[in-house]
This record gives sequence, C-alpha cells and structure tokens, in this order.
Amino acid sequence: MADPLPPRMHAALCDAPGAALRLGEVPLPRPGPGQILVQMEACGVCHSDLHLRDGDEDLPDALYPLILGHEGIGRVVVTCDGGPEIGARVGLPWLYHTCLDCKPCRTGAETFCQANTARGVQHHGAFAEYALAEAAFVAPIPEVLDPVLAAPLLCAGLTAWAALGKTSAGPGSRVLIIGAGGLGQYAILIAKARGAEVVVIDTDATKLDTARALGADHAVLAGPGAGAQVQAMGGADVTLNFAPNAAVWSTIETAAAPMSEIVAVALIHDPVPLSLMWLLDGGHKVFGSSVGTRQEMADFLSFAATHPMPVDVERVPFSEVDHALTRLKSGDVTGRLCVDFSL
Ligand SMILES: [Zn+2]
Ligand SMILES: [Zn+2]
Repeated sequence: MADPLPPRMHAALCDAPGAALRLGEVPLPRPGPGQILVQMEACGVCHSDLHLRDGDEDLPDALYPLILGHEGIGRVVVTCDGGPEIGARVGLPWLYHTCLDCKPCRTGAETFCQANTARGVQHHGAFAEYALAEAAFVAPIPEVLDPVLAAPLLCAGLTAWAALGKTSAGPGSRVLIIGAGGLGQYAILIAKARGAEVVVIDTDATKLDTARALGADHAVLAGPGAGAQVQAMGGADVTLNFAPNAAVWSTIETAAAPMSEIVAVALIHDPVPLSLMWLLDGGHKVFGSSVGTRQEMADFLSFAATHPMPVDVERVPFSEVDHALTRLKSGDVTGRLCVDFSL
C-alpha cells in the first residue's frame, strides 16, 4: 500500500508581485474532472519565473499567493478517467491548457491558441511538493531520463526544439544562434544533431567558450561588427533569436543570407525597424515560436532519450528556490538551475 496522501504540502509562495518566494504550507490540491495530482521530483528554474517573481508581468491580484514553476517532473499519485497510471512519471510544462477548439488547437499548433493558459501564471506551478495538471496536457517522461536533467527540457529545451522545427535547418545550412544561455545551448546541440553548421553570437566570452564546447562551429562576440562577420562566412540561412533586446535586429538583418528564415523567440516588447524593402529584396521569412506543442514535446523527449544533452544543470534544494532565482538575475549561472526535491 502506498502511503496515504498528506492533508497539506510545502510550497514556495509568491505573496505579491515583487515579493521573494517564501516556503509555506498549503492544503493539498484536489484534482477535478480530467485532472491528476503529481508528486514533484524536480522543477527547473526559468527566467520566466524570475520575471513573474519580480512583478514584470501584470497579473490580477486574485492569483496571489501564486506558486511558480513550469518545468516540473514527478510521479502521478492521483489520476482520472483516461489519465496516466499511478506511478507514471510525467512532465508539467509551461502550457497548462488550451481551448482544443480553435484553428491553432485543431491543427496541432496549440501554443498559438489565444485562450491558452500557463502553469505558474494563471494556475499554480510546480515549486511545491505536489501539483495539479490537466491529464491531456502532461508529457510522459521516458524512464531513461534523470528527472532533474530532464526538467529544463520541458521549457528551455522544448522552446529551442520547436523553433528549429519550424525551419529548414539541416545539412548545408548555416544556423545563427543569438544568445548562448540555457535555450541557446540546447539550440546548438539540436542544430548540430540536425547536421547544420552553427554560428553563435553572445555578449559574454565565457558563454562563447561553452558554445564551442557544445559543438558550435563559430563563436562571435556581440557588437556592431558581429552581423558582418557572419555575412563574411556566407550569411545565416536560419537565425534564432534568444537575446532579449530589440537592438539585436540590426545584427540579424546584417547577418542574413538571401531567403533566410528568422525566428523570434526571446520576449521583446519593443518594436524593431524591419524594412519591408529588405524583406522582399532578400525573400526572407520572419516568424515567431513560443514553447512547443504536445506533439513537439513527445518528439523532443524521445530525441532526448537517445541524445544525451550535456547542458550544465545545477541541482538546488527546494528550500533555496528563491535564492536560485536571485542567482539567475545576477547572471551567476552557466547553464540551468533545477530544484531537486530529493535534496
Ligand atoms: Zn520557462
Ligand atoms: Zn485553442
């Protein structure tokens, strides 16, 4: 017999926008129809959590105290009709649920559902001993994967995978990756696995060393001449932008080969000076990508099960989750941080 579930659980609570996360006790959540309860083993610490903690996004007061965390992996302890088996290991990603009825949902592009909701934003996340999930939106996790190493795949890795999946990156193409943090590092590994030549631009020389160690063919220090250096190599056939600032557009434009594909991934609110003349003259395609669909997640996790990804993942105890976010803010992290609930 499994141990009975406790009536209460520990959770990292964000009491208000801008407040540090505090460990508190809350009642164990009860799954409704179509929902399951998962006992967490790991939850990655993401820049989006940092933005939410620091109050950079405008959320209704009613959502607080809010539990953040959207890179969760754990074992099912309560299931529902049609849900995964008790004991199955599942992933709780950013996408909490979507309407399943609009055109994006019906065509397998549910990340663009305008009614989508996110874990750790409109719904409590996985910085807690237990978390609820919609059975239709959890990701089965292959048993060969270590939950702590796999948790960042659910957001950072998936985002890179889905962005590359929208492009023709492959043998004979040159992929430019701007930003060599966690997402960029997964993108290097995936682009190399697809057979592309990879060029990385970053402002940080240490991150460029990491990029080279992961297999990047060229590493270029960000700056006014960076785009021209890529153009001198023959130009970028595919560009993925993970750098969160609008000034990067001039580098993207300068680096682009004719008929290039440019994927916007970083969250940038400021507009960029896109010249329609440049667009038509070069025949470029510019489009966006946001996390990944359930199908992309399944494809990516089976890829990850056979392609170990040597991105540095540092384990942190649950009690230090707020400190982990502060470290992320200070830039004192080479890869990804992940809460390990067994520590
Ligand atoms: Zn994330
Ligand atoms: Zn929809």
